Amino acid sequence: MIAVDFHVHSIFSLCGLHTVLELLEHGRTIGMRGFAVTDHGPALGGRLNTVFFERFVSPDPHFGILKGIECNLLDREGAIDLPGEYLRFLDILLCGFHHNFPKGLGRQAYTGIMLAALRRNPMVDIVTHPNDAAYPVDYGALAEAAAAAGAAIELNNSKLRYPRSTPAEAVALLVACKEMRCRVAVCSDTHAIHELGDDAAVAPLLRQVDFPQELIVNRTAAAAFDFVEQRRALKR
Ligand SMILES: [Zn+2]
Ligand SMILES: [Zn+2]
Repeated sequence: MIAVDFHVHSIFSLCGLHTVLELLEHGRTIGMRGFAVTDHGPALGGRLNTVFFERFVSPDPHFGILKGIECNLLDREGAIDLPGEYLRFLDILLCGFHHNFPKGLGRQAYTGIMLAALRRNPMVDIVTHPNDAAYPVDYGALAEAAAAAGAAIELNNSKLRYPRSTPAEAVALLVACKEMRCRVAVCSDTHAIHELGDDAAVAPLLRQVDFPQELIVNRTAAAAFDFVEQRRALKR
């Protein structure tokens, strides 16, 4: 199980099912220490709730609820749909390719676009699901660029669970991250409640490639909260 899960959608994403408090209740029940609510940026049609960002605090001082957004790539120059007024409220910023972006452009194009996004948006903390088969990227080039930017690459449990990628692709991603000394974040990408904190599909792959523990930003709850604090200055 993931102690602090950095990738969770609430009912404010069009694809999410649950309220923040329902997610909190389940997270506590299964022994998690926190999660980030990372609803999609506006290009996917959901809603970023201003009250959540400006006023919400976790009702449980022992359970961290982080404020995040999973932004979408918007164009070939690497623009993302981050509404600037939310930046100062963010604990964590995720970014990835989603169905608003054209498919079929090829690995070279998607790699260049993601590298441009990291250059243009140094506040991006985690690149989500780069092993999504619909948007192939060069894992070595991405891992090198993410490591240089201090960002982490996501190891996404849902992409294997459902399956939108393969274990072989996830292993190739991990091997590239290990070689480039790029940090990874193990995340569930929760949309339905039973997915919260779940790493069952990816945990065996981390062991298979003997992935260095120190490169996993959320290997413990303390490490996860440290990562958030390390990156905070980039959002102010
Ligand atoms: Zn996503
Ligand atoms: Zn997501």
